[in-house]
Amino acid sequence: MDYLSEIIALTVDSVLLGACVIKYLRNKNAITKIQAAPYLEIDKNLDKLVSKEPDKILPYVIIRGTVQPIGNPITSNNNPKVAGVLQLLTIKEHIVQRGATGYWSEHEKVIQKVQNVMPFVLESSKYSVEVIDPLAADVLDLDVISNVFTPTVPKVIDHIWGFFTGFRQRGVQTTEEMLRKGSIITGVGELVANENGKSLRLQPPRDGSPFYLTNMGIVSLAKKLDDNQRSYRLFCIIFGTLGIVIGSLMIRKYLINKSRKSDIERKRKELEISRKERRQKARGDEMSDSQLCVVCKANPREVILLPCGHVCLCEDCSDEILELCPICREVIEKRTAAYLS
Ligand SMILES: [Zn+2]
Ligand SMILES: [Zn+2]
Repeated sequence: MDYLSEIIALTVDSVLLGACVIKYLRNKNAITKIQAAPYLEIDKNLDKLVSKEPDKILPYVIIRGTVQPIGNPITSNNNPKVAGVLQLLTIKEHIVQRGATGYWSEHEKVIQKVQNVMPFVLESSKYSVEVIDPLAADVLDLDVISNVFTPTVPKVIDHIWGFFTGFRQRGVQTTEEMLRKGSIITGVGELVANENGKSLRLQPPRDGSPFYLTNMGIVSLAKKLDDNQRSYRLFCIIFGTLGIVIGSLMIRKYLINKSRKSDIERKRKELEISRKERRQKARGDEMSDSQLCVVCKANPREVILLPCGHVCLCEDCSDEILELCPICREVIEKRTAAYLS
């Protein structure tokens, strides 16, 4: 495979470029959607507004309110004063590992992830909207309640074990994140009237538009999306340029190879012509048996076989006979042109 490394590089580059383009387009779509989405106050008019819509659905809206649990909230494991509606517990193992190069490097591995969700609403001036499926949000801002790293104290046996296995635990990190009761968040999604016609719910949009539950205001969210847009565009340009460079290098290599091949072919043809001329000259001289190739008995002897030194073959037959000299049966190690005059 002449172009294996280039093909691998181009494939990796294309995958990255593709991922960037998808992210860029999705983000662009999100910006357009957010700009078009109406900001609605959670108040007494909201359910009437939704009821007027076909199927009682507003496909994409922005609302803002205070998080309030329906029923009992979840109490934080690490701080009994903190209550919330969504809790995320993550346990990560930090390990140091000896890589192929012999150096030790640090890695993180999630060992356990626990999610607890309570039903909750976004509330504003006594009116509220229930939030459905918050874990499906594309952006879900949570407060970090606790983040503790417990280092492992290695014993002698652990050091020895680590030396042989190339693997040692450095410690365990436990993180607790929560969506707190009482925090004010912006929700962007699909607003639907419940069957009873009295309450409303905010849920992930059915058309796949992004669902946001963020403590940012809508202006900050739009700015963040805009910043992302700029980074995605930059990455698209970088990977695109890289692809063009790799592609040009491949074309250059192909052209060089092609011209080298045609050079070889030209030389081969020249040799062929000169051989034909030589043979014609020799035929004109009426060759004796001792001048003719021992195999085809037609062409002059043109090749010397080494190490035995026999000049017994024409070039055509020499191409066919690869192993043993036809006169003395010695192994042919080398052959070269011989000119008998
Ligand atoms: Zn021959
Ligand atoms: Zn021989």
